Amino acid sequence: MAWEIVIGLEIHTQLATKSKIFSGSPTQYGATPNSQASLVDLGYPGVLPVLNQSVVHMAIKFGLATDCEISRRSVFARKNYFYPDLPKGYQISQYELPIVHSGHLDIVLDDGNIKTIGITRAHLEEDAGKSLHEDFQGLSGIDLNRTGTPLLEIVSEPDLRSAEEAGTYMRSIHKLVRYLGISDGNMQEGSFRCDANVSIRKKGDKKLGTRTELKNLNSFRFVEKAIRVEVERQIDLLEDGGKITQETRLYDADKNETRPMRSKEEANDYRYFPDPDLLPVIINDELIENVRAELPELPNARTKRLIRDHGISDSMAEELTSSPAIADYFEEATKNTPHVPAKRIGNLIQRELSAALNREGLSIEGSKISPSMIGKLAQKIEDNTVSASAASTVFDEIWKTGGSSNVDSIIEKHGLKQITDMHTIEAMVDDVIINNPEQIIQFKNGKEKVIGFLVGQVMKESKGKANPQNVNQILRSKLSSS
Ligand code: ADP
Ligand code: MG
Repeated sequence: MAWEIVIGLEIHTQLATKSKIFSGSPTQYGATPNSQASLVDLGYPGVLPVLNQSVVHMAIKFGLATDCEISRRSVFARKNYFYPDLPKGYQISQYELPIVHSGHLDIVLDDGNIKTIGITRAHLEEDAGKSLHEDFQGLSGIDLNRTGTPLLEIVSEPDLRSAEEAGTYMRSIHKLVRYLGISDGNMQEGSFRCDANVSIRKKGDKKLGTRTELKNLNSFRFVEKAIRVEVERQIDLLEDGGKITQETRLYDADKNETRPMRSKEEANDYRYFPDPDLLPVIINDELIENVRAELPELPNARTKRLIRDHGISDSMAEELTSSPAIADYFEEATKNTPHVPAKRIGNLIQRELSAALNREGLSIEGSKISPSMIGKLAQKIEDNTVSASAASTVFDEIWKTGGSSNVDSIIEKHGLKQITDMHTIEAMVDDVIINNPEQIIQFKNGKEKVIGFLVGQVMKESKGKANPQNVNQILRSKLSSS
């Protein structure tokens, strides 16, 4: 039987404010437990929450970037439930009147097609605290530092049709909030996590199937894996004549399975009501226009522009725009190199630079090589001063000196100039032919692939300095004539 998969995501994005949503406590990650919880966060009687203005700006920014309607009047509500890490006994959230609603976002699917995903709403709320079960024997600790941290919960329409689409949508939202500068998107620190609602129905059915909700998925990979196993479970269950129970489930990554957590609560279990301690949020045209003026170029627009202005491929543009800082770096590097195809610069960033950054756990802001040096290095490859493999050595040497040396002096000092002199290359090719008789026979017997090995040997002998095209050409002509 053919099943259709239906998914809607609720993404919790921590907003990058200095202080909490309703108090002046700092939001810094990793502080000593309970050192960042004020009386407001603790819910002491008699204290009053005061709304942090910057969360309103951030929510509007998100709303404008996703073509949402911005509510002129939105209301904070109390969502009542008991949990040890929620001392007030309620979470302040928005319910009937969210700050923004009815928008959409275009995502680029793996096959290059574009799909528009509806955004039902995005509302402001405070985070709860954290229970620590591992540090104490027979006891649980409560850390209330996270209490009152501002969140924007972004709720999608049930428009996603596969685990991969859900992953792509989540990545696109992640990219967007970082472009907007409203969240650091740090997933290890829990600044970006999602609940996935999953159901299946027979192809062609209009009515949605019963859904389950997979809670607190904090990596793109886990979202996709969790959805895949949950879909399998639902299909097996229905095909065996069973029924799906609407419930909240947990994904266990070690066992790669989902398990029931609790039966699905209904909205009325929470007894939502408008918070009497907070005024409605009123937004006027002037504020909206001020925020609009601050909007940066958005990721989709930037990707399209990089393809158009720099003639690079879709996939390279997609990667180079993965963060605004990387795209800035790339564009800066292309500035004074009119005769170098931007693709060369992109390649150096994607290969050499990202490898070096990964190795040292740095983000691009920590790069020890300036964009203009990358541009210069690409120029040297383009005009055949160095081969691509020698360029890699130049890169590493500059990196080692913390960026203080320059491209020309490194090439000079390490003798990395490309050898284009045909006689010199010919002599090296001859050596390699003499020293590898077995491979030569294989090649003559039609094993075309051996040529790669032989070129490699010559490159090795030249310490990466021979021009590989020349080597290839000379090798082939010698082998076909001998
Ligand atoms: P709740 O607040 O109880 O979690 P909502 O109605 O607000 O429920 O829906 C939450 C999310 O679940 C939304 O992203 C929505 O698109 C998605 N969703 C709703 N119904 C289904 C369904 N049958 N299958 C998959 N996703 C669904
Ligand atoms: Mg929900």
